[in-house]
Amino acid sequence: MPAEEVFIALGSNIGDSVTIVEAAIRALDNITQCRLRGRSSLYRSAALGDIPQDDYINAVARIDSGLEPLALLLELQAIEHAYYRNRDTERRWAPRTLDLDIILFGDRKIDDSHLVVPHPEFTQRRFVLEPMFEIDGDRFIAGYGSLSYLIDQAPALAMEKLDRSHD
Ligand code: ATP
Ligand code: MG
Ligand code: MG
Repeated sequence: MPAEEVFIALGSNIGDSVTIVEAAIRALDNITQCRLRGRSSLYRSAALGDIPQDDYINAVARIDSGLEPLALLLELQAIEHAYYRNRDTERRWAPRTLDLDIILFGDRKIDDSHLVVPHPEFTQRRFVLEPMFEIDGDRFIAGYGSLSYLIDQAPALAMEKLDRSHD
């Protein structure tokens, strides 16, 4: 089976988030049948939701995956667990050491109880769209439009790109 292009959003707001997100990007390249093909800078963004919490460090990576989507999701969850994420004690929107979400998987549409792709919230999330734009500014997403259009439509969000030379 030929590899498919996958965009993965990374986020962390507990611990040394810069180090955690950088390590997680490297870990993506070590997933069986997967290869890291691109990555964004790191971004700092204000947390969503009603729970007061620290800013997030975000990034997006592009990989080629020879794994099927659910197999890739399991690999991503293993990486989350390697960073002590404890899903049992966590609420949605709560702070976490590492979150890895599949945003796009080729041009597949998946509506499984464990996996929805494209990620249902990605058009609302500037911390996903802007790093994607950095990787692939010309991208047109079938059924959604161009990334630049989506960024224009997305809700405002306090975020900044981190200068890699100061990491
Ligand atoms: P959100 O998906 O809104 O960003 P979250 O990332 O905080 O929320 P998690 O606690 O990380 O949510 O994941 C909850 C469940 O979401 C996972 O167990 C996984 O099965 C499911 N899920 C559905 N679609 C996706 C996807 N595209 N990428 C990652 N997980 C997904
Ligand atoms: Mg998430
Ligand atoms: Mg998640």
